[in-house]
Amino acid sequence: MEKINETLKKLSMRTNFRKRYEEEKNEILKNNEIRKFLLEHEGEITSTMIDNSLMKLHEYISQSKDCRNCADLDSCMNIMKGYEPELVVSGNSIDITYRPCQRKVYYDERKKTEKLIQSIYVPKDILKASIADFDFGVNTPGRAMAFEYADKFAREYVPGASMKGLYLFGSFGVGKSYLLGAIANHLAETKKISSLIVYVPEFFREMKQSLGDHTVNEKMEMVKKSPILMLDDIGAEVMSSWTRDEILGSILQFRMQENLPTFFSSNFDFEALKHHLTYSQRGEEEKMKAARIMERIKYLSIPIRIDGPNRRH
Ligand code: ADP
Ligand code: MG
Repeated sequence: MEKINETLKKLSMRTNFRKRYEEEKNEILKNNEIRKFLLEHEGEITSTMIDNSLMKLHEYISQSKDCRNCADLDSCMNIMKGYEPELVVSGNSIDITYRPCQRKVYYDERKKTEKLIQSIYVPKDILKASIADFDFGVNTPGRAMAFEYADKFAREYVPGASMKGLYLFGSFGVGKSYLLGAIANHLAETKKISSLIVYVPEFFREMKQSLGDHTVNEKMEMVKKSPILMLDDIGAEVMSSWTRDEILGSILQFRMQENLPTFFSSNFDFEALKHHLTYSQRGEEEKMKAARIMERIKYLSIPIRIDGPNRRH
């Protein structure tokens, strides 16, 4: 008696399972994407193949194929974050391969670009500055000129060629540093040219602090030899004759000799910067030294004034 019960139970479980299985299968085969795939491979896919691959088809349906379904890459809903499924016929069954989603592709590209732009002491928003969402504002011909030149630079520059950088000057908060960041991103994106952006006041302070230890030379080498150097906010630093002559002077001298493009941003125009470089110092010799630095800056860059409202709140 018990045996019969067991058998009946098993049988009913089996029928139940069979029923659920059929329902599930029908659900899967009703799915639009699955239907499309089966239609595309008509004649190639047999019903046995479908039966054998139902788990895969189920997995495929459960995964998102549209980045708009997720808020961002971090909250991607798929099994493998940043990857979306694709159905393929593989031998006698249907299989899934995973390929990077649109967001992941964009993110990886972005990472590569960011790696090219090393930066010392530069705020994150400047690094993210891009041409795509760059707001030119009104009455700012300087911005357009700077971009036109960045474009020309990206098209024409080959390592070793002698091409000037830009000296962007204008008052506080008009977007000079942001513009440098956007130019650096532009060069990285279009020409895979790497830039080093250095915030001058911090850099000089650090150089003074590490005076006497070996990191001074290491940092100097890195800054001197960077394929593209952007000296951000020159003139805002506390100048001493050591930083002016041994640090700034020697960086600029090296870059002139080696034809290495150098960009600047400053609150000062050339005349005011010269004054800053001479200030607090006395005597003819100091004036000469300041003038020598100015000659190098002028040799290395084209001055462009950036106007506009103060964007800092
Ligand atoms: P500056 O270097 O001239 O003092 P910043 O480049 O630091 O000014 O810009 C000031 C603020 O305005 C920053 O927070 C920057 O992110 C923002 N900003 C500047 N230019 C733009 C722009 N074109 N589009 C969007 N934000 C900008
Ligand atoms: Mg700035």
